[in-house]
Amino acid sequence: MNDPFPPSAAADRIVRGIAVCFDDDPWTAGASVCRIVEDAGVAVADGSILAVGDFASLVKGHPAAAVDDFTGHYILPGFIDAHTHFPQTGIIGAYGAQLLDWLNTYTFPAEIRYGDAGHAAEGAGVFLAETLRHGVTTAMVFATSHPASVDALMTGARDQGRRMIAGKVMMDRNAPAALCDTPRRAYDETKALIARWHGVDRLEIAITPRFAITSTPEQLAVAGALAREHPGLPIQTHLSESKVEIATTARLYPEAVDYTDVYDRHGLLRPRAVFAHGIYLAEREWQRLSDAGAVIGHCPTSNLFLGSGLFDIAKAKRADRPVAVALATDVGGGTSFSMLRTMDEAYKVAHLTGTSLPPLATWYWATLGNARALGLDDRIGRLAPGYEADLVVVDPVATPLTAYRDRFARDHQDRLFMLQTLGDDRTVAATYVAGRCLHRR
Ligand SMILES: [Zn+2]
Repeated sequence: MNDPFPPSAAADRIVRGIAVCFDDDPWTAGASVCRIVEDAGVAVADGSILAVGDFASLVKGHPAAAVDDFTGHYILPGFIDAHTHFPQTGIIGAYGAQLLDWLNTYTFPAEIRYGDAGHAAEGAGVFLAETLRHGVTTAMVFATSHPASVDALMTGARDQGRRMIAGKVMMDRNAPAALCDTPRRAYDETKALIARWHGVDRLEIAITPRFAITSTPEQLAVAGALAREHPGLPIQTHLSESKVEIATTARLYPEAVDYTDVYDRHGLLRPRAVFAHGIYLAEREWQRLSDAGAVIGHCPTSNLFLGSGLFDIAKAKRADRPVAVALATDVGGGTSFSMLRTMDEAYKVAHLTGTSLPPLATWYWATLGNARALGLDDRIGRLAPGYEADLVVVDPVATPLTAYRDRFARDHQDRLFMLQTLGDDRTVAATYVAGRCLHRR
């Protein structure tokens, strides 16, 4: 690729490697929407991408720029995790329960501890460091019902210059008293967090009712009121993850046509609203999600670990009523911070539901695809001038096995697919946030 945007300003830094540039979804638009630039440079100035193109030409144009040489490594936009719970980092990989038991046995006790500001700050620090080690630069995050847990995450994220979306969990029933708020408190505390954090640097607050079971109708009405008052605000919750959960929700909301309708009648279906899981949706629900422009968060490692079920990506991709699907770890029900592990499991879950994902589709998904689903694709998710310089550098030969396998790779597509299948945090050579290298292996 020749650089279509000749640099006019001076670059601080040029990151050298093989640039992987997605312009669209290779699944629907074909493999040609992925452009690979062999010896590329990503020139960065003031936290943004200034130019992407041939390395030698960029160096000539920017002789004063520092060069980070990752020759032979891939450079992509930083990974985006569209659904995760930072306070569950301490219970990842907890044994032997399905969704509702798992919440009661592990999740709620862990979240109660986040009422302590010191504990919350430590957990936020571990979460922010782990995501960086895995090349994840942006995430959409559940905190706990304590506003201080959001403060802890946002303080750390701001210090790192991260683009981050997070929300205080709203829950006022079917949970320990220490985690329950009230509709009034959920409203007031979310309003205060919006005033404190939303739009500060690269941070956004999301309206975050945990799920229908732990919110009264009065509280979901409050979530809807917040949504009306803040039309552009992200929303995050859970939908149709397990059969027991669906049956319980039906008992609690007898007036609703189905689970999706519970959120719909409270005004929570819209673009930038991410509904994690969506495993057992009926056709009517798919249609409503499509009409509303809402997003499903697909969390394959979580769905497999908790035995929740297999998400059917083909149903979301139906051309006559497409539903945006974001890819997510769902830590700590999910078992890895790695988007590579998550991409691999998504590929396998798709196979089990009769769909063969195109080889580059998951790399698009974890970058530009998720940026689009979260309504951030004018800022992140692409290697293009003007975009925020969040980057991940991927090392094809980081482990003895990938180094051996790499010798037999036929082309970039084969190599990238191999890396999604075999890669993990060792595969992430470096992570850049707004042009600054915050992790280097
Ligand atoms: Zn979740």
